Amino acid sequence: MKIYPQPIYDLDELARYNLHIHTAFSACAQPEMTAKAIVKTAEKAGLVQIALTDHYDHFDRDKDYLAQMDALKIACAEMNPKIKVLFGFELSCYGVGKFLEKDETNQALDYRLVSCNHYDRPWWDKPEDKSPRGCAVHTMRIVKSALESKRYDCVAHPLIGRFCRHLEDRTEVTKAMTDNELGEICELAAKTETALELNTGAVRGDPALFRRLWNLGREVGTTFHYGTDAHSLGYIDTGRNLPEIKKILA
Ligand SMILES: [Zn+2]
Ligand SMILES: [Zn+2]
Repeated sequence: MKIYPQPIYDLDELARYNLHIHTAFSACAQPEMTAKAIVKTAEKAGLVQIALTDHYDHFDRDKDYLAQMDALKIACAEMNPKIKVLFGFELSCYGVGKFLEKDETNQALDYRLVSCNHYDRPWWDKPEDKSPRGCAVHTMRIVKSALESKRYDCVAHPLIGRFCRHLEDRTEVTKAMTDNELGEICELAAKTETALELNTGAVRGDPALFRRLWNLGREVGTTFHYGTDAHSLGYIDTGRNLPEIKKILA
């Protein structure tokens, strides 16, 4: 789903949308993350749109995941929300051109966020070369394949090395990416109409990368989406970290 008719580079405007929220269906999220509590909290925070994006971690369980999404839809409909709620997943592009969900499942979603770097999952393809540059090349190849597939609306926490847990300083991964390479990814994202996520945790964890993406992306017309990757109710309000994110990207 296209969120904006054209790219928006006003952070206040972007932050009216929180397009990365986990419900209690994600094992890593708090049990308080019910559809009802999420919608209430988002309305109170003055958001205009949210996306529910639980992890999609299994091959061949499409039916279960769609049933899970239907349960969230029913719970939300009962509340008659004043904000727009998108039902999607944080899908997994776990290797070059490797997608977990079936095509029909992909097409049944309102919002298709995709992660390309969850190396913490045991079934995720791993780089043979474990150096920061090896990890960088591997991650960039997966992201490019996700973009080229045009299956997705947005790349979650793009390119960060946070999940390369064997490295002591995980920002080494993105330091090993050249501006040319990042520019190419921003261009490809623009061309394939796939957004890159300003994931607040990722921006705070690797400010230098996101300054580069934000600058390169604005030059070539990349769309950015805003998401807090909320796992608890306290992180639904985008206002919480907005001043810090603005400072980092300024
Ligand atoms: Zn993630
Ligand atoms: Zn997430």
